[in-house]
Amino acid sequence: MDLNFTPADLAFRKEVREFLSASLPSDLRERVGRGDDSHFRDDVQRWQRILHDHGWGAPSWPREHGGPGWSAAQQFIFETECALADAPMQLPFGLKMVAPVLMRYGSPAQRERFLPRILSGEDWWCQGYSEPGSGSDLASLKTRARREGGEYVINGQKAWNTRGQHADWIFCLVRTDPGRKAQQGISFVLVDMRSPGITVRPTRLLDGTFEVNEIWFDNVRVPVENRVGEENEGWTYAKYLLGHERTNIAGVGGSRRELRRLKAAAAALGARGRDPLADPVFATRVAQVEIDLLALEVTNLRVIFAEGRKQAPGPEASILKVRGTEIRQRISELQLELQGARGLGGDSEASRAAAAYLNLRKLSIFGGSNEIQRNIIARTLLGL
Ligand SMILES: Cc1cc2nc3c(=O)[nH]c(=O)nc-3n(C[C@H](O)[C@H](O)[C@H](O)COP(=O)(O)OP(=O)(O)OC[C@H]3O[C@@H](n4cnc5c(N)ncnc54)[C@H](O)[C@@H]3O)c2cc1C
Repeated sequence: MDLNFTPADLAFRKEVREFLSASLPSDLRERVGRGDDSHFRDDVQRWQRILHDHGWGAPSWPREHGGPGWSAAQQFIFETECALADAPMQLPFGLKMVAPVLMRYGSPAQRERFLPRILSGEDWWCQGYSEPGSGSDLASLKTRARREGGEYVINGQKAWNTRGQHADWIFCLVRTDPGRKAQQGISFVLVDMRSPGITVRPTRLLDGTFEVNEIWFDNVRVPVENRVGEENEGWTYAKYLLGHERTNIAGVGGSRRELRRLKAAAAALGARGRDPLADPVFATRVAQVEIDLLALEVTNLRVIFAEGRKQAPGPEASILKVRGTEIRQRISELQLELQGARGLGGDSEASRAAAAYLNLRKLSIFGGSNEIQRNIIARTLLGL
């Protein structure tokens, strides 16, 4: 949709498209298109190196930290075009989560040590917030960090940790003062995943894949200089990070790509004599989801333009999260319906649709569940 972009933005989009067509390796493109994550770590890191070599490694970072200094609109264009081109995702945990926290609250030594390695893709980060019983109610987390001289000794368990099996580092919320009110006794620490005492146990998801893990900490020793900011002030940094996470969760580019895939699959079936879009009920549902996606894109642009004016991401981010994930799930439902029983057999497009449908149930849970986002919308936007 060109409506909201300036001629300079449109020229930038052309540049991004040309770059993607020249520089995105075809084997990566094909694997992402097939939903094949058998080379996940290698593919993500290889793509990060290509972007970094081009000066585009961290689309959201300011120039002073090695980013391209893009406007919010340029970042949106870049991410959308990458998704449409089937580029590997740039994982948010380093680039969009811990990095903004380090830029704002980290020490100069932490910034110098960690930011360049996030940019180049050398360090893979994961997020250690949730625990069994502490997901929506995150402030109840129990993983304990006891101070012993110049170290913290960490004991406890994190749950639902995405891609931690590949990670070099994990940023964790830990309880440093159990005597204080829940939110006040938490600290934000950076832990080397090679530390003795860390065990990573994979959790199998509905589609049979291993994207998430339990991570156990058994007397893990972490130098105090790996704490970000002040002791017991971690909740402030955690909230700052979550605001960034939610803003980027609308996934407009991914939904546009999947809508395109849905229409292509419908056309392929049509060519074989059964045109699903001739069914007015199915065609109406496809049209409705496309309209909703256009409306989401406009809302997303409103939020990123506000961010570009240096306002912190507000509760509008919750609307993006709820709407973005509902739309993506609806598209995956339509893809599954379109394929019907073929999803149970060997047909690759149909199996991909079935696996994606099962996998994407996660969208309404992670990043703050959709019920929790609705509570935020009700309280802060609707005044209920
Ligand atoms: C695939 C996946 C990947 C994840 N990756 C990570 C990761 O990398 N790092 C990380 O730290 N965490 C991660 N998470 C954890 C995620 O943030 C939590 O699952 C989420 O916050 C929900 O917490 P919970 O699972 O404990 O469910 P609960 O909080 O127990 O919620 C259960 C149900 O109750 C509802 N509910 C809870 N409280 C309320 C309320 N007050 N009002 C209305 N409804 C409510 C919820 O919406 C949900 O439907 C991931 C989760 C998934 C599924």
